[in-house]
Amino acid sequence: MRSVLRFELQAVCPVTGARAGLLHTAHGVVETPVFMPVGTQAAVKGILPRILESDLDAKIILANTYHLYLRPGHETIRRLGGLHKFMAWPRAILTDSGGFQVFSLSRLRKISEEGVLFRSHLDGDQHLFTPESTIDVQIALGSDIMMVLDECLEYPASHEAARVSMERTLRWARTAYAHYRARCQNEGVVEACACFPIVQGSMFADLRRCCAAELVQLDADGYAIGGLSVGEPRALSLEMTEVTTPILPTDRPRYVMGVGMLEELPEYVARGVDMMDCVLPSRNARNGYLFTSAGPVIIKQTQYKDDPRPVDEACSCYTCREFSRAYLRHLFLAGEMTYSTLATLHNLRRYLDIMREIRQAILVGKFPEYLKSV
Ligand SMILES: [Zn+2]
Repeated sequence: MRSVLRFELQAVCPVTGARAGLLHTAHGVVETPVFMPVGTQAAVKGILPRILESDLDAKIILANTYHLYLRPGHETIRRLGGLHKFMAWPRAILTDSGGFQVFSLSRLRKISEEGVLFRSHLDGDQHLFTPESTIDVQIALGSDIMMVLDECLEYPASHEAARVSMERTLRWARTAYAHYRARCQNEGVVEACACFPIVQGSMFADLRRCCAAELVQLDADGYAIGGLSVGEPRALSLEMTEVTTPILPTDRPRYVMGVGMLEELPEYVARGVDMMDCVLPSRNARNGYLFTSAGPVIIKQTQYKDDPRPVDEACSCYTCREFSRAYLRHLFLAGEMTYSTLATLHNLRRYLDIMREIRQAILVGKFPEYLKSV
């Protein structure tokens, strides 16, 4: 049994294997390859959902299960009509399983076959995440695409540690999927939530391949590649992606979690990746780092004090249409909230525009040329 999620391949680059497609979700169609803005706490920091929808035309955003489980609580969100209604976002939402945050944010975690016991980074209370419970939390949220619980290893890890961890992630994925399918069978309504298992295996090609091959047996709605961007050299993250994607079924979407320097987006797409997310565009915006078609602008620099030009003369976002670098610099130095809103709007637009360019290049058969030009 499969969920309502359906992936339609529209074009595949014959040289690189880059793909353009349509991801049909219960909350609209997502054009791929896609970059998903991150809304950790059911909000993309500084950006109103209606701006995300109208100005940015984002089709899917990401929210974090770990954060929403701890606060305000998934049952609260469920009682209030689910995450889409809670945050007034009518389009698709992908939620992670919380695994990554448990391993990066929480204290005193203890891993067992059953799951991971951890203390909240907010109040120190003890919680247990199991493969089953994280599915239940995401179903309560009403996520369109859920992730199974995985173990995220730090980098570097030994081959033996990575193997043990990958095998546990595999067992957890099977448990999570069995639980998900049982809930789908018993309560048809959860079929609106698709579910992706996550390929792990640290930086070892043999483990990544083995994990991917085993997960394919689940006949899942799509597949995620996790455990990257944890401090390894960038070439290694790309290599791990490259060894994994050929094993995954061509008719299902592939999502690489938490990667995405701007210049790397086409590189991942060239390796057959359809979906990506990263906090960089929004976090960097708040820190004064703006991405432009002519390279980065560090807005606090004195050189922008009297600069009447927009952040990026080639950008048509609201920020670039209406405001000067001098004004943005002033807002940044004054600590005005409006700065974060305008800067995030621009950086997200830059990411989404790049993905649209990439998609267009694939559709018209010019992706290899595009890849060479960046
Ligand atoms: Zn702009």
